[in-house]
Amino acid sequence: MQIEKRCQYCNKTFIAQKVTTRYCSHSCNQKHYKQIKKDGKVQKKNRDTKAIDLVYIQHKELLTPSEAKEILGIGKTYMYKLLAEGELKSIRITPKNIRIPKAEIENYLQKRLNKEKSKIQPTPTKLSNNMNFYWSISEVEKKYKISSKALYDLIKRNDIRKLQKGAKVYVKKSDINKIFNS
Ligand SMILES: [Zn+2]
Repeated sequence: MQIEKRCQYCNKTFIAQKVTTRYCSHSCNQKHYKQIKKDGKVQKKNRDTKAIDLVYIQHKELLTPSEAKEILGIGKTYMYKLLAEGELKSIRITPKNIRIPKAEIENYLQKRLNKEKSKIQPTPTKLSNNMNFYWSISEVEKKYKISSKALYDLIKRNDIRKLQKGAKVYVKKSDINKIFNS
């Protein structure tokens, strides 16, 4: 049997012996095979780098930074800022690699949600204005690098008025400034 066919690689017409023959030569056959293999690899690579499979991520307990940013819908820079500030906690698995536990992502999302809520329902201005004149005890401890005990002693000795709000104790900034700046 002799059939005129067109080579699938070089596009030349040739006389084939079988209906199934697709190439004019063994060399074209091999070259085409290599090309298909290469294209396949390129496609696979594109898939790997482009879309992160969200369904797959959702079942992982530890996420890479790029997976985490995909879930949070934020950019790389912003994510590293969150990590640096401790807003988003990570664990180091090798000297060069960190992972973000899924629970941390959920924590962060919850925090972000709460922040949005508080924006919608702002605390009364009167209260927040008032509180601008106060520091919490822990804020004073941090600001002046003083221990809790030393601070309480100072407050007691100087007869500084304390204000209890919720679980926190506040003192007037002006009172504290007077002690530390005198
Ligand atoms: Zn050919």
